[in-house]
Amino acid sequence: MSRRHPWIFSGAIAHVAGDPTPGDTVLIKSSGGDRLGLAAFSPESQIRARMWTFDPDETVNDVFVAARVNAAAARRTSLLSGGTDGARLVFSEADGVPGLIADRYGDTVVVQLTTVGAERWREAIADALAALPGVRTVYERSDADIREREGLDARVGPMRGDAPTPGLVVHEDGRQFAIDIEGGHKTGFYLDQRNARRAIAEHAGGRRVLNVFSYTGAFSVIAASAGAASVSSIDSSGPALAAATRNGELNGVDVGELVEGDAFTLLRGLRDRARQYDLILLDPPKLAKNEKHLDKATRAYKDLNLLAIKLLSPGGMLMTFSCSGAMSADLFQKVVAGAALDARREVRIIGRLAQPSDHPVPLSFPEAEYLKGLILEAE
Ligand code: SAH
Repeated sequence: MSRRHPWIFSGAIAHVAGDPTPGDTVLIKSSGGDRLGLAAFSPESQIRARMWTFDPDETVNDVFVAARVNAAAARRTSLLSGGTDGARLVFSEADGVPGLIADRYGDTVVVQLTTVGAERWREAIADALAALPGVRTVYERSDADIREREGLDARVGPMRGDAPTPGLVVHEDGRQFAIDIEGGHKTGFYLDQRNARRAIAEHAGGRRVLNVFSYTGAFSVIAASAGAASVSSIDSSGPALAAATRNGELNGVDVGELVEGDAFTLLRGLRDRARQYDLILLDPPKLAKNEKHLDKATRAYKDLNLLAIKLLSPGGMLMTFSCSGAMSADLFQKVVAGAALDARREVRIIGRLAQPSDHPVPLSFPEAEYLKGLILEAE
């Protein structure tokens, strides 16, 4: 608590006074009786309470919650300028609103509530987001699995304002990407890969590019518009690849070859045919959901990176990612190093990538860090 960490685990609680219900604001006291702050009570979760404030004399109410939302949104002002109208406005604990994700795409905000504490302030949150300048629609996508841990059912649909705009697009650095807020991954787009998109724009020119786990082809569109010699995309989702075609059209580029199937199998096939690429993008889904899955996930990351390194041309570049919070940046680098060793290639790190500024990591809450990437160059 003295370290200002926002989580209180069930095992750290000696006793609960009174009879608080899910989402109630509770006063946290030390074993010595010191008042430490206010938290949202979550009886069904291992994380039994999430801190709202370390000042026990504050009041948690609509005004408090709205102020937190507004402050977080204000921190994104400089990001949402020029050719960019998409950003994560609120990143849960990292912005002082545990359990709230709010992503902005133009005039639309997509909300995900993942804890009973955030759920309690649902209306205040929706009002605050709807009141932000330029916002016309607030849409709820509270369908993440993690809600189950809090005893919450899925909830999806309009919250405030107009129905979602058909053909909604997000603009970033002058490019556009179609957003499916009702059915897409996360809230519709991988806002967290903005730094990677910028790095791809810088490096893809003239290269033969392979985009593995392409989803709706954002990386492919950027590679094509940066003047890649060729672009191939692999994903197991047919609808995602169809969206990639549309994203190419939106940006006036040919998005290139689209291959539907399992990445592991397809990469082995490319290896067996001795294919070579000058830039490979490897952005798998979260392979380690938690520490329990880390061993198995580590082998999967190793396999993928081994296959990718084997496909690199001399001087070829690999941008490889892990979005598993359970895997540290250090472990990820070790896994990739093991893959390079097995591939018998000399590979150098020429850059590192991480989640962008709208996905901040409080020094008191390192758990917020989940996305890491390496930019590698093979000899
Ligand atoms: N780089 C993308 C995000 C990738 S998300 C972007 O920036 O938009 C991970 C993608 O991996 C999803 O589109 C999912 O459909 C795909 N996927 C999951 N398992 C797969 C597998 N075994 N083979 C191929 N694609 C897979």
